[in-house]
Amino acid sequence: MFNCYVCGCNITKNNTYKEHIILNSLGGKLISPSIICNSCAPKFDPIDTALSSQFNLYGLMLNIERDRGKNPPIKVKVTGTDNQISLDAGGKPVLISPIIQEKSDGNISITVRDKKGLRKILNGLQRKFSFTEDIESIINRANKSEEYLGKPVDINVEIGGEELFRAICKMIVSFYMQNGGSRQEILHLLPYILHGTNEAFVSYYYPDKEINTKSKISQILHRLFIKAVANEKVMYGYVELFSTFKFLILMSDNYTGKDFQHSYEFDVLNRNKVESSININLPKDIVIETVKNQKINLNNFHDAIQKLWLFIVEKQSNDCLNDIIQNSMKTAFEGVTEGEVVNNEDFYLLIETLSENLAKFLSSRNQGLEDYPDKNID
Ligand SMILES: [Zn+2]
Repeated sequence: MFNCYVCGCNITKNNTYKEHIILNSLGGKLISPSIICNSCAPKFDPIDTALSSQFNLYGLMLNIERDRGKNPPIKVKVTGTDNQISLDAGGKPVLISPIIQEKSDGNISITVRDKKGLRKILNGLQRKFSFTEDIESIINRANKSEEYLGKPVDINVEIGGEELFRAICKMIVSFYMQNGGSRQEILHLLPYILHGTNEAFVSYYYPDKEINTKSKISQILHRLFIKAVANEKVMYGYVELFSTFKFLILMSDNYTGKDFQHSYEFDVLNRNKVESSININLPKDIVIETVKNQKINLNNFHDAIQKLWLFIVEKQSNDCLNDIIQNSMKTAFEGVTEGEVVNNEDFYLLIETLSENLAKFLSSRNQGLEDYPDKNID
C-alpha cells in the first residue's frame, strides 16, 4: 500500500499519477506512480513550470529528447539590431517576422520562414496592388534556401529564485519517497515546497573539491543523491542538472530513521541511467551552514557553466558538420543506387560540394565569433 506524500491518501488505481521525478521537460525518465495522487499533482504546477522554463534554453541547445513534445523555441535578438529571431531545437535560428524590401527597380523582395507565411503576405499585396499572377505560381517560383546567421544573438536567461529552489526540494523529496522514504521525515518540507516559507532548505553548492564523477567527457548528466545519518539525525540531498547546476538540500536536521543512502545518475543525451559514483559525506553542521549562508563560489560556478557552453558549441558544430556531409553526399550521389561503385565524376562533385558547404559553415562561424562583443555575464 502506497500513500500520497502530500495529502496522505491511499494511492489506488483510480487516483494514481505518474510523477516524473526529474521533469520530462529536462529529458527526465525517472517516473513513480506511487508517491503523489492525481489531485495533489497539479499543486506543483507553478514550481514545475518555473523549473522547466529556467532550463528550457539548455534542453533546446542540446537538442534533447523528451517523452512528450519538444523544448519550445525561444525568441532572441540579433546583437546590435532590433531583429528578433527564434532559436529552435539544436540552436537553429529561424526567422520570425518576414523581411520585405522594395528594390530600386520597383520589384519587391520578400523573405519568410515558410510557404504559409509567404501566402499570407502575397494575399495582402494582391489586395493592395491587385496584380493578376496566381499566388501559388509565385510561391512555386520562390527560392528556397538556408543560410547561416553568422551573427551573435542576445539571450536572456535567469536561473534562480525561490520557485526554482522549491522545485529542487520537491525533486529530492520525490526521489526519497520513491526509494521507500518515510512521509514523517519530510512532512515539515511540504509547506515550503507548496507555498514557500521564510525558511531556507536549498542552496547552490559549488565546493572546491569536485563531486566525484565517472562521467565521460561526452556525457551531460542529471544526478540525484540522498544521505541520511542516524546518529547525527541529519538527512541531506544533492541535485545536479545538466552536469552544471548544483544544489544542496537540508532535508532534515531532526531525522529519526535509519542510515540511508541512494543515488541516481542519468545521461541526458543518450537518455539512459548510468552507474552512479556519487558519494558525498558532509558533517551536519556544514550542511546547515551551507544552506543558511546561501553563498555561491562564483569561480567554481563559472568553470561549470563554461564547460557546459563549450560542450554545447562543440555538439552543435558536430551536428552541423554531420548534416553538411550527409547533404553533400545526397546531392553528389543523387541517382546512384546504394552499393553501386561511384565514378570519378560523381566523386569530384562530392568533393566540390563538400568544400563549398564547409567553407560557408566555417566562414559564418568565424564571422559570428568576430562580431561577438565583449560582454559581461551577470
Ligand atoms: Zn494527494
